[in-house]
Amino acid sequence: MFDKTAVVTGGSGFLGSHLCDRLLEEGIKVICIDNLLTGNIKNTEHLFGNENFSFIKHDVTNYIHVPGKVDYILHFASPASPIDYLKLPIQTLKVGSLGTHKVLGLAKDKGARVLIASTSEVYGDPAIHPQKEDYWGNVNPIGPRGVYDEAKRFQEAITMAYHRYHGLETRIVRIFNTYGPRMRLNDGRALPAFVSQALNGQDITVFGDGSQTRSFCYVSDLIDGIFKLLMSGETDPVNIGNPAEITIKQFAEEVIKITGSKSKIVYKELPEDDPKVRQPDITKAKTTLGWEPKVDRSEGLRITIDYFKRQF
Ligand code: UDP
Repeated sequence: MFDKTAVVTGGSGFLGSHLCDRLLEEGIKVICIDNLLTGNIKNTEHLFGNENFSFIKHDVTNYIHVPGKVDYILHFASPASPIDYLKLPIQTLKVGSLGTHKVLGLAKDKGARVLIASTSEVYGDPAIHPQKEDYWGNVNPIGPRGVYDEAKRFQEAITMAYHRYHGLETRIVRIFNTYGPRMRLNDGRALPAFVSQALNGQDITVFGDGSQTRSFCYVSDLIDGIFKLLMSGETDPVNIGNPAEITIKQFAEEVIKITGSKSKIVYKELPEDDPKVRQPDITKAKTTLGWEPKVDRSEGLRITIDYFKRQF
């Protein structure tokens, strides 16, 4: 137990903090690095005082110094919600490009295995549905979302280059929409927006006509898939997400029903380049990792809504 060490960048964010918890549960020491730009120290506060956990406040776009042996590096630092990366376009591009370069350099120096958090956004507004890993995507490089999408596409490219050129042990997870406790209520994503609006009796803001689809994965399922990928031998990108697809309008109605809210749906302008459909094909995760999601949306939503209620 605790003879291996993992570095988690973005470890105080929504996904990063759940990863820190899981790695510690697996008997792996954790060094969490976060500049707290969009992360929240509260997400990892319960780990302070744990002798197998340490925290470094650092921006990983600058040289990363970590003393001692490192076995695994999980790169989860990045603004990840559309309003965050529209507000922080340069930081988003830098952490995906310069930050990934520093992370790969650290992995090479330490001889560590590195897992990179990529995204379904590499598929852009997809022309293939559901999305399989061999689809190259449909991204507008100069649109407002391009700062995130292209940073993540560059991130995948440089990761594969380090793998091919330096023989680095790399893993790439393409993460689809995920929800659960520790999401920020004000991060602008559909789920926290709808839940906080429903709980406050405000209008639910559906963008466009709400016919666009997403497929939402509960956080514990996602973390389980990522851990299995880290421990596997798969070096090509793997989709991790829940294929249960729903329109955004239906999703808003579901949140209203579960919260018992009297809120009404109002329609707002659809953001530029908003993908019209999104659903992971998880055949590869099933066959190579033996993974599939277990928590259905009604159960996951109930847990998440309870968490949000405690935040008010
Ligand atoms: N959306 C919405 N109302 C909101 C926030 C988001 O209708 O208050 C829509 C958004 O336009 C998109 C979908 O919900 O079509 C999911 O958006 P989110 O920001 O959660 O993430 P995305 O999947 O676009 O990265």
